Amino acid sequence: MHAMGRVSIEAIVNLCKRRGIVFPSSEIYGGLRSAWDWGPLGVELKRNVKEQWWRSMVHLRDDVVGLESSVIMSPKVWEASGHVATFSDPLAECTNCHKRYRADHIDLSRPCPHCGQGPSWTEPREFNLMFKTNMGPVEDSSDAVYLRPETAQGMFVDFSTVQQTSRKRIPFGIAQQGKSFRNEITPGNFVFRTREFEQMEMEFFVKPGTDDEWQDYWVEQRMAWYADLGMTSGNLRLREHGADELSHYAKRTYDIEYDFPGMGWSELEGIANRTDYDLKAHAKHSGQDISYFDSDTQERYVPYVIEPAVGVERPLLAFLIDSYSEEEAPAASGKLEKRVVLKLDKRLAPVKVAVLPLSKHADLVPVAERVAALVRASHVTDIDITGSVGKRYRRQDEIGTPFCVTVDFESLEDDQITVRERDSMEQERIAINELASYLAKRFE
Ligand code: ATP
Repeated sequence: MHAMGRVSIEAIVNLCKRRGIVFPSSEIYGGLRSAWDWGPLGVELKRNVKEQWWRSMVHLRDDVVGLESSVIMSPKVWEASGHVATFSDPLAECTNCHKRYRADHIDLSRPCPHCGQGPSWTEPREFNLMFKTNMGPVEDSSDAVYLRPETAQGMFVDFSTVQQTSRKRIPFGIAQQGKSFRNEITPGNFVFRTREFEQMEMEFFVKPGTDDEWQDYWVEQRMAWYADLGMTSGNLRLREHGADELSHYAKRTYDIEYDFPGMGWSELEGIANRTDYDLKAHAKHSGQDISYFDSDTQERYVPYVIEPAVGVERPLLAFLIDSYSEEEAPAASGKLEKRVVLKLDKRLAPVKVAVLPLSKHADLVPVAERVAALVRASHVTDIDITGSVGKRYRRQDEIGTPFCVTVDFESLEDDQITVRERDSMEQERIAINELASYLAKRFE
């Protein structure tokens, strides 16, 4: 087996399209720029990424609880948070072809990357990234609402309610997963930057003065999450924001970046020290007391907040790229053949077990169905009947299925099946009635 060079984003886009993982939305109408639909395998992948995040951030901890707040919140939330005034990117337009760019993403002293003319740019102006819509049947400005551009504000406005009902004491966190919307000036790079995306955010409330330490702690935890799920350490790095990059609420921010092929180092996740900015802003605008009383020390204070914030799509894309491998492997004939394999961590793989009868023979299919039924209650299972077994192995390798279970004519005699492991391609023959416990052990 020889591993080959690094995969291109185009090869990943093709694989995703060919296998129905993720593809352009509304395609029968020509698509909608930068909107994507997740097919059967893509949905499973997304759920797995979210599940792994939730497990590590909420279920395995005693100091973080979950929340699901509304996508559409009171517009006052976005005035208080500063998003109405400052959640914008600088937009510059080429006066020749009228293509628009983020002024902070291109060099304005150069000709337009689209038409090659100029440079001749309009003066950059601030463009607010929030999607605005109307609530209810009357379309006037008093009914204007926004689709949330981040999930975080839900945790801030619900802080006191969640703290009191869950009886958590500081330090503790509130986590949320859900859709966010940003009217990005230049979406693109496949699912890296879209206008509708999913976020996984956790606001960790700490006593002022302990914030730097807690931020270091969360940076370490989040780096460990990627490593635990098998991300190549050389493709990940941590970068601290310069003073000119910091958001209006941030004291210090680190980005976890991934070295995307063709794009270079780009943000997967941000871990910000948001200070007491948001809670104080909401206290001021709402007139409510949003402070915390520590009954041990008899102190009342507004907590500081450490926020690890990540999308679902960016790490998912990074996991696909990172696990993609092209190898030469012996085919049934003994000849070397190219095999594409996603060496995804088992927990991320969209299908866990594939059951493959050696052929469509009428005696084999019912046994395969019986085997699949045995496994399905515990693992996402696919049964694939058509094509040569070699081809079906390749199809499963390409989507990262950790185990293929083959039913052959001997199975009819000895009640045994062959289990093939994805990465080593090693095969083991075991009894059908031992399969469930065998897999349980392998998936541990
Ligand atoms: P960028 O600088 O790339 O625009 P950001 O710094 O504005 O990103 P944050 O506000 O920190 O992003 O959002 C937290 C996370 O949400 C990001 O790290 C990223 O994973 C995800 N995210 C943000 N915007 C988008 C988008 N338009 N499409 C997909 N994911 C996004």
